[in-house]
Parts: sequence; structure tokens; C-alpha cells
Amino acid sequence: MLNNLNRIEVEAGSILFSEGDPGDCAYLIEEGSIEIFVGKGSQSRQVNIIGKGELFGEVALIDHQPRTASARAVNKATLIPISRTMVNELLEKTDPIVRHLLLVILERYRNKGGTVAATTEEQLSVARKRNALRGEATQKITLANDIARALEKDEFELFYQPICDLKSEHVAGYEALIRWHHPLQGMISPLDFLWLAEQTGQIRELGLWTLKRACRDWPVLRRSTHYPRPFVSVNLSPSQLTEPRFVEDVKTVMQQYQMSPGELKLELTETVIINNPELALKLLRQITLLGSSIALDDFGTGHSGLDSLNRYPIGTMKIDRAFISQIHDSAHSREIVQTSIKLAHSLGMDVVAEGIETREIHAQLLALQCNYGQGWLYGKPVPLARIDQ
Ligand code: C2E
Ligand code: CA
Ligand code: CA
Repeated sequence: MLNNLNRIEVEAGSILFSEGDPGDCAYLIEEGSIEIFVGKGSQSRQVNIIGKGELFGEVALIDHQPRTASARAVNKATLIPISRTMVNELLEKTDPIVRHLLLVILERYRNKGGTVAATTEEQLSVARKRNALRGEATQKITLANDIARALEKDEFELFYQPICDLKSEHVAGYEALIRWHHPLQGMISPLDFLWLAEQTGQIRELGLWTLKRACRDWPVLRRSTHYPRPFVSVNLSPSQLTEPRFVEDVKTVMQQYQMSPGELKLELTETVIINNPELALKLLRQITLLGSSIALDDFGTGHSGLDSLNRYPIGTMKIDRAFISQIHDSAHSREIVQTSIKLAHSLGMDVVAEGIETREIHAQLLALQCNYGQGWLYGKPVPLARIDQ
């Protein structure tokens, strides 16, 4: 990005900005040195002299306050100006927690504890935005803290949803789906906390917990299946795969719970593959060498499609509920489902249709030679204690 910026040359003694000026630009020193000073004329006092590679003027740029010091070139200098628009763009892309912390630090640095009362409309608008950011950051920090506590206090539970053989309608396996029993908020859906656990890295611990719990519960679940090759499916999040010990962990957990590797399926979405194509290929191969299999989750909603199906050792395609639920009403969805099933079969994969809620949809999928079905028609996700033996 810095390559696109125009350099400016300034002569010795030039003033770059003065105290009280609006802070609309920061500078990176490419050559020369710059004096930072406060006060005017004989009252002026040097704060610092900075040189090549250093940045100045950035504080006013970020917190939208006037300059608190002046800057003058000590000798001939080359500078790279960095505009507020660019910094704002970068800040927008930063995590709210980082942004909030940065602004708090800047505020303390500037006011040594006090806050400047907002007066103009622009200052009020900045203050409002900052309050909203503070709210978002606080919420995230609280939630991340709660997740850490929940792991310690054993507040997570796995629910299991049956996956049925479409012909016989017998239970072939189960998908493990995490639930959080929050002491104050009650049951929290995985969609409401997994995204943050993914961002904070807590997903690794959570993922390992899920894997252990599913393997621990498998002997009980297995007794309620009626199928020659029963399985339990465990979801993987993108950053679990980049954990250096990932394959080793899977192996250790399987040994610890005497899990037969062929009965463990790991579900991942195309995002996992897209984020890290080469690493994913290597690790997924290692997983299949252990004897376990891979299911491509939410098929149809991602972007990689054909490429990942062909290159990666995927044993099962799970067609997303968005298409399955429309199969009755939309010729387009029906076409997508039919083509996906044919494609999967031609690549030697089996197919699970997700989110089957009605008999009609079941019948249609059976006619399309789909292998397995998952959905409320056969059973909602339930705790282990509610699985019929
Ligand atoms: P998913 O892997 O696509 O799981 C299927 C979701 O569809 C589950 O939602 C399930 O309850 C729901 N579902 C199943 N059948 C039906 C149906 O017939 N109708 C409708 N309307 N919904 C149905 P859930 O349990 O809320 O999980 C949401 C997502 O959270 C999962 O989507 C998965 O991506 C993620 N997730 C859940 N547990 C875990 C976990 O242990 N680890 C990771 N990494 N992700 C998990
Ligand atoms: Ca899944
Ligand atoms: Ca899915």
C-alpha cells in the first residue's frame, strides 16, 4: 500500500504542521530528520528529534483531535504522507477490540486521564461512534471471557442429530452439535459464539473438547444405530486445522477413547480449504491415512466447488439445507441437488442431504438416489441421555 504513496521533499526549517492545526495527515520519514516541539517563538520547547523510518503526526490522525505539537524539518527531508482516509480504512478492517484499545490508549496519552468535552457536531459524531465501538468491544471481551469460564465450568454439551439411511430410514450415524448452557442467558446456539471463539483462538480448545466428548459418547450412540458402517460426524472450524498438533491430537483422542478411526467423520466447509489449500490437502490426507473420513459441509454455499471435490480426499458431500428445503418448490434447486448427487457419486462419494423436514422431500431425494438424510423429519439434535437405545 505504501508503494502507492507520493513522497514530498521539504527544505531545512520548513514547518510541516503547527499546534492546533487539524490533524488530517501523518508522515513517515524516508530521509532526513524532524523536530517535534510545543509552544511558540521563545516559549517553544523541543519534545523530540526523530529520523529515518519513524512516523509522526499519527495521533491526531487517529483520534480526530487538533495537533498537540508542531513539526519542523531539521534538514532537507523526504517524507511519505499518510492520509486520514487510508488510516481509517485500515482501522475499519481491524478487530473492534484492537481499535477500541488503541483509541483508549491514545485518549489517555493525550489527556492524561481526562476526556475532552465534545463541542462541535463533528466531535459529537466521533464521540458517538467511539461509544458504539466501546460497546462492541466490551461485548466481545465479555463473551470471550465467558467462553473461557464455560470451558472450565463444563457448561458446554454435545447434542446429537441422527443421519439416516434414506432407503431403510435406519439411523446410520450422528452429527455432534455443540450447545452452551450459559448460567444467565440459558441455552446459546453455536452460531452465536463459535465466530468469536474462532477469532480469539479459543476454538482450538473447544474443538478438542468436542472431539473428545464425541469419541467418549460414541459407544452409547453406536448402540442405537442400525447400519453396517455407523459413524459420528464432528464439525471442524477453520483454525483447528492450522493448529500444529491437529493430526496428532485426533490420533491421541481416538486412542484415548478406543475409537475405531473408520467410525469418525470430520466435517468441514469449503472455507477451511480455501483459507489454506495446501495445508488442508496435506492434513486431510493424513486424516484419511489414519482411517477416518472427511465430509464437505454446506455444499453449494462456498466457492471452490469442483476443484476441492476433485483434489481433496472427501468421502461425503453434505448438500446444504438452503437447496434441500427448496427442492419441492424450485426447479433450480432441484437441478442443483440432482447434479450435485450425480457429481458426488461419479467421484465415489456418498451424499447426505441436510435439513429434510417433510416426507415429500424425503421421497424426492430417495428418487434422486441420495444416500443419507439429516433433518427434523428423522429427529432434532438431542442430548445423549435422550438417544433411544
Ligand atoms: P451445520 O454443521 O450445518 O449443522 C446443521 C445445523 O442445521 C444444526 O444447527 C442443526 O440443528 C440444523 N438442522 C438440522 N436439521 C434441520 C432441519 O430439518 N431444519 C432446520 N431448520 N435446521 C436443521 P445448529 O446445531 O444450530 O448448528 C449450527 C452450526 O454451528 C452448524 O451448522 C455448524 O456449522 C456449527 N457447529 C455446531 N456445532 C459445532 C461444533 O461442535 N464445532 C464447530 N466447529 N461447529 C459447530
Ligand atoms: Ca456440519
Ligand atoms: Ca451443514
